Amino acid sequence: MARYTGPVCRICRRRGDKLYLKGERCYSPKCAFERRPNPPGPRPARRRKVSDRGLQLREKQRARATYGVLERQFLRYYKEAVRRPGVSGLNLVRILESRLDNAVYRAGFADSRAQARQIVRHGLITLNGRKTDIPSAQLRDGDTIGFTQRGARSEHYKVLQETIAAKTPPSWLVVDPGALTARVAGPLEVVPGETHRFNENVVIEYYSR
Ligand code: SF4
Repeated sequence: MARYTGPVCRICRRRGDKLYLKGERCYSPKCAFERRPNPPGPRPARRRKVSDRGLQLREKQRARATYGVLERQFLRYYKEAVRRPGVSGLNLVRILESRLDNAVYRAGFADSRAQARQIVRHGLITLNGRKTDIPSAQLRDGDTIGFTQRGARSEHYKVLQETIAAKTPPSWLVVDPGALTARVAGPLEVVPGETHRFNENVVIEYYSR
């Protein structure tokens, strides 16, 4: 199960925007983008004009980095989004948002998608009562996520019991703060700027050329 293992803050600096990939740190003065918003590496001698194709590529990379998905899987998501009825861009966001690691993050069970992915991989999460260690598992309406017995004994769980009430899940996830479970309730609403911070239509254009 491949994933990006390089320096994370570098991605934000390269994309020229905060992608909030590191949880709490992203909201603190320690954020690398706040301290050094310039792209990493030596300063170019002159600024080059970015082509339309280049802008599309940037948007696609931003989307990919946000969800921590590698190129091959992201291409699969694009194909599935185009195959489904409806607007392909919105379908793509729905597919990305329906990932188990994203739902764990959205429910407030993790501070970042990277942490969510880790606790899924470490076997702390259940999907419909069964342990699931596949971060890319797709959730459907009515699915419930929670913690395994091992997860409920973890330090992470104890901290969560005290902090979960302060978190605000999206409308499509109903969180039970007592039991620390979350249920997918109703269709996943996509609100640009809220659900995601990239232009999904530009991402579709990038692949459809
Ligand atoms: Fe990006 Fe968060 Fe790193 Fe800031 S702290 S550069 S928002 S990943």
